[in-house]
Amino acid sequence: MTTQELQLDNLQWITDSRQVGEQASAAQLGNTVFFAIQGEHHDAHDFIGELYQKGSRHFVVERAALTPDRRVEFMAYPDAQFIETDSSLQMLQMLASEHRRQFRIPIIGITGSNGKTIVKEWLAQLLADDFVVAKSPKSYNSQLGVPLSVHQLNESHTLGIFEAGISKSHEMQALEAIIRPTIGIFTNIGTAHDEGFRTHKQKIAEKLRLFIHSGTLVYCADYTQIDEEVNMLLKAVNAHMRFITWSLTGKSAVYQATLQQDQLSISGPSGNFTLKLPFTDPASVEDLIHCIVTMLTLRVLDADSLQSRLNRLRPVSMRLELKEGINNCVLIDDSYNNDVAGLQLALSFLHQQSTRKHRAVILSDVLQSGQQEDDLYEQVASLIGANSVDQFIGIGPVVSRNRRFFADNSVFFDTTDQFLTTFPVNNLRDSDILVKGARPFSFERIVNRLQRKVHGTLLEINLDALTHNLNYYREKVGSDTKIMVMVKAFAYGSGSAEVAQLLQFHRVDYLAVAYADEGVSLRQNGIELPIMVMNPAPETFTTLLEYNLEPEIYSIRMLREWADFVTRSAQPETPVSAPSLFHLKIDTGMHRLGFLESEIPIVVDYLKNYPHLQIATVFSHLVGADEAQFNSFSQHQYETFLRATAELEAGLGYRPMRHLLNSAGIVRFSEYRLDMVRLGIGLYGVESSQIEKDAVRPVGTLHTVISQIKTVPAGESVGYSRRGVLDHDARIATLAIGYADGYDRRLGNGVGHVWVNGTRCPTVGSICMDMTMIDVTKASAAEGDDVIIFGNEIRITELAQQMGTIPYEILTGVSERVKRVFFKEGN
Ligand SMILES: *Cc1c(COP(=O)(O)O)cnc(C)c1O
Repeated sequence: MTTQELQLDNLQWITDSRQVGEQASAAQLGNTVFFAIQGEHHDAHDFIGELYQKGSRHFVVERAALTPDRRVEFMAYPDAQFIETDSSLQMLQMLASEHRRQFRIPIIGITGSNGKTIVKEWLAQLLADDFVVAKSPKSYNSQLGVPLSVHQLNESHTLGIFEAGISKSHEMQALEAIIRPTIGIFTNIGTAHDEGFRTHKQKIAEKLRLFIHSGTLVYCADYTQIDEEVNMLLKAVNAHMRFITWSLTGKSAVYQATLQQDQLSISGPSGNFTLKLPFTDPASVEDLIHCIVTMLTLRVLDADSLQSRLNRLRPVSMRLELKEGINNCVLIDDSYNNDVAGLQLALSFLHQQSTRKHRAVILSDVLQSGQQEDDLYEQVASLIGANSVDQFIGIGPVVSRNRRFFADNSVFFDTTDQFLTTFPVNNLRDSDILVKGARPFSFERIVNRLQRKVHGTLLEINLDALTHNLNYYREKVGSDTKIMVMVKAFAYGSGSAEVAQLLQFHRVDYLAVAYADEGVSLRQNGIELPIMVMNPAPETFTTLLEYNLEPEIYSIRMLREWADFVTRSAQPETPVSAPSLFHLKIDTGMHRLGFLESEIPIVVDYLKNYPHLQIATVFSHLVGADEAQFNSFSQHQYETFLRATAELEAGLGYRPMRHLLNSAGIVRFSEYRLDMVRLGIGLYGVESSQIEKDAVRPVGTLHTVISQIKTVPAGESVGYSRRGVLDHDARIATLAIGYADGYDRRLGNGVGHVWVNGTRCPTVGSICMDMTMIDVTKASAAEGDDVIIFGNEIRITELAQQMGTIPYEILTGVSERVKRVFFKEGN
């Protein structure tokens, strides 16, 4: 390594300025290097000044991003080191490969369509007796995640386990150079990301590149396409590789396996074993066999030792859940694992989640870090300190004996039991609380204690799906068009504060709500993005100014009232300093709210007397963006809009931003995207033009439970007015959801179906206010079982069709009494 590389290698790497907490000390930041990456929607070079002010001194910057202005700015930081490169990402990857070269320990590299993270986590658990393991945090497997993961390797580690994920051709080469696995695992192949590849075979071939320098490859021979490609490609480039294959179907393979219920018999060169599997669903069985075969490849083990390790396995939860806590707290439940990298991620999530006045962290001992105890807890304490945590609670003997590193008001307990019996949990109020613990500490008991009990029906919101959908529309509109996100109607039923938090984190440009009080609630939850209010009553004007909300003005009457109001509220001694922003709505054919084209001259004339009133944006709305039959009307609206805005600009002498498109419009009329678009239902998982309907992911899953099951003979009836007459002996389940929760009455009498343990079950009889009866004769169902009303399995679009309505009504119809639970899948 060159001296420069050596120096960067010894620093902590940051790629996202948002990971840096407000309270990070200058000394902490002095130890970091910031890799500024210029993305399509986000240019990290914008944040260098801020980081410098806080104490960062090392920056890797991209030549293309160095405008003359920026060069001048950076010159003003004489004691900072700037390293110029063509691509900060490539530099990061190159440094990570150099870092990897310093270690001569076994490194397991995992790729495949599914199961990568589970196999990685389970292997780390299974091999914990024999190795000090470094592994990717959560599912950090991307072009950025892999180098950050591999950089964690230090001298104390004796094994590395890293996963690699790709979505396009040619990505694996870079990851291979960084991981350089000595042992490979190819989990399986599915259809995810198929769009990034020419053929299915090409996708397999690309993934196999991870293993071109490996000594051993583990895979399942039952995937014939994988088997064929391995034989075609890998054997040609790496003649010395050992292939450890296995089969459950009698294909020719090194290990032959059979499964009867939970008993796995497996035989091969390491012996014959019969093992009881802790999980028996097909995906888990496959993941477990990969782990068993890999363990046997690394270590000589007898059946008892294998079995006792398997018995210790716990399900892998990669989910980090947001839950409603007692005393107005919000819980961030990450109670399944605890390592330093994961802690960093969780803390940055806590930091982003600034919905409550205080922040608290409950943390267990950090197991298996491979670091010296002192170093480790000094680092943990400084991470806690850097993220403005008001109250730290440490649980476990090791964190307790290292209390000297933590703030004075911190408290410590040796065991989870001791915490639960002696800590006055009611002291935790109005706080965002991160609960993060290694498995043996059973922190689920703490979550259970602190959580406000949720029963029956709940709407789960997948924050990763929201992010995915946002990115999909961002990519569609490109970097020159801004995005306003509609969070009206409780963010289409998904929960305004949490959704807006996420949108703020991802730096969308604008939010829009229907009423002033929705905007106020966003401000009270820490949202600082500009907010447009679409239907602001004059009585709310004071509130608008007080909370810095920007009204939509749609009529002459309203323009007058607003202008009067703003002028009156500007006291002579405090003249309006900032221009007061508002948004002008043009009616181009909807004939709902807005100025007609013919009224533009009046607006222009009127505004001449109010130079302190400024139009931020001017917009209109398409009446049929999602339907081809209205294409020519949409075009007509667009042309009207262009004429009206041209006239407005000419009269005003400046150019407000213009926007016209909603979600369907973004997909169908990208040529009309102008300066900004207004994203609504697409973000929430419904692609309403249905042209690219699989490009977005469902965001909400509405769950309920079975309260009771009974057998009812043919000829009897179920529910009010005897509408559900049975033509067969049936098992009837009563669900804890009714029309008051938003399960529409139109779905009764067999029109709607729900999902019970893998089976679609029809409704029977009429839907009641709080309950619904379904026929579970064909399903395996028990009282207390979870039932899905909509989500992946039952799509909202399908329900809408059955009800004869539109998806919007279903989303916004889930009543507020239904609890919202937010979660992240990983990353
Ligand atoms: C709700 C709304 C949108 C968003 O529409 P979607 O079809 O949900 O994308 C856009 N513009 C206006 C004026 C709206 O009221």
